[in-house]
Amino acid sequence: MKSSPDSAAPFPPTNPAWLKLDLYCKGIRLTEGCLPQDTHGRPILRTRAGLGSGIELILPEELWTNVPVTEPFAKDSPYELVRRREEFFVTHNGNHCVDVRIPERPQWYDKTTRSGKRMDRVGTLQGTYLAIYPAAVCDYWRESPKANCRFCSVGLNLGHDDAEEKTVEDVLEVVHAARAESGITYVDFNTGHYVGETYLDILEPMITRIKRETDLLVGVQTPPHHDLSRYDRLQAMGANRVSFCFELFDQATFERVCPGKNREYGLDRYLRAVEYCAGLSKKGTWKQPWLANGEIIAGLEPPEASIRAIDWMTSIGAVPTVCVFRPLQGTDMADEPPPKAEELAPVFQRLYEACMERNLPIGLAPNIHVSLVLLPDECRFLSSRPGSLARKEKLRQWKASAFAAQFYARRKWRDRHTPPR
Ligand code: SF4
Repeated sequence: MKSSPDSAAPFPPTNPAWLKLDLYCKGIRLTEGCLPQDTHGRPILRTRAGLGSGIELILPEELWTNVPVTEPFAKDSPYELVRRREEFFVTHNGNHCVDVRIPERPQWYDKTTRSGKRMDRVGTLQGTYLAIYPAAVCDYWRESPKANCRFCSVGLNLGHDDAEEKTVEDVLEVVHAARAESGITYVDFNTGHYVGETYLDILEPMITRIKRETDLLVGVQTPPHHDLSRYDRLQAMGANRVSFCFELFDQATFERVCPGKNREYGLDRYLRAVEYCAGLSKKGTWKQPWLANGEIIAGLEPPEASIRAIDWMTSIGAVPTVCVFRPLQGTDMADEPPPKAEELAPVFQRLYEACMERNLPIGLAPNIHVSLVLLPDECRFLSSRPGSLARKEKLRQWKASAFAAQFYARRKWRDRHTPPR
């Protein structure tokens, strides 16, 4: 039976980008045999940049997602994950919607590093890339009273799901295992705030080693360092992406939701860093690409503010990363309602269209599927004017194929000429 659309929904639930967005907002109910321990899927963790908590699924068109299951609102979801022998599908209001796949839990998760840490406590796959939260918990969580961002769960998790101290050696061992066994192409480092702005000092030795020993693309997400020349240095050592989470474009909402960030840095400093790093894009090459991202959370401020943020970022050459607010259990905002997908759809439409209008390099890096955000290129399925952007979309897809071809050609050459570890 075909799924019947919600009367207010602007897209059918079979539209993969709409489904990804609607699942973020409504969650999913799991039926018998769908828990990760029954499916060899990845465990449900609360960690991962403070906004992830759910089950990882692969939707049609290779859209990876992380769907809320433990938050109370998921119990009322019209979506259900159903298992039929070894196959899985999503139903909507009881009707078949789409077939999905469940990404397997990598075998290297259960291995240990030479210092005895379980590898999945050093880094985990988020979608298809390796995510590492390399150091101690964000200092906003250590203050009394706490100054953490109110949506964030990072301080609730570290020490439970993550190892406390990760050495450069630990990280490199996990990076090599994930590259060899999971075929990753990208490593993402994410830190919170550390007194003394030590985040780049901690990351640089890890980045240097990864770039020396592998062909992986590397990105960092940290607060904005006061010394902007540190980003030139980061680029020179081979980093490929910097991302700044300013979360909100509306000043008053930023102050209310992110008290620590507001006190230590202020919204303006975040925006200056995004702009400075976007200016470094001209030094990027096909072999050594460079991208500046600004990250916001949709659903915590009016959609118009999110759209203004998108328009500002794309106008300076930065690519927006847009998360969807998830009221995670245990956080200060746990009792807030999740956003409505109908209200957020224009934000994600604008995300794709603004990037395409400015010819920004979206969706080019190979094998990067992100489960926690709806990527700009994935939002093409929501576009209100696919016809007028068709030529640009074709060119974008051609560039993505060309980038992947040269990346994997170099990987093949490298593997042939590198002695096994
Ligand atoms: S800066 Fe905010 S969002 Fe990031 S880890 Fe710290 S409290 Fe969480």
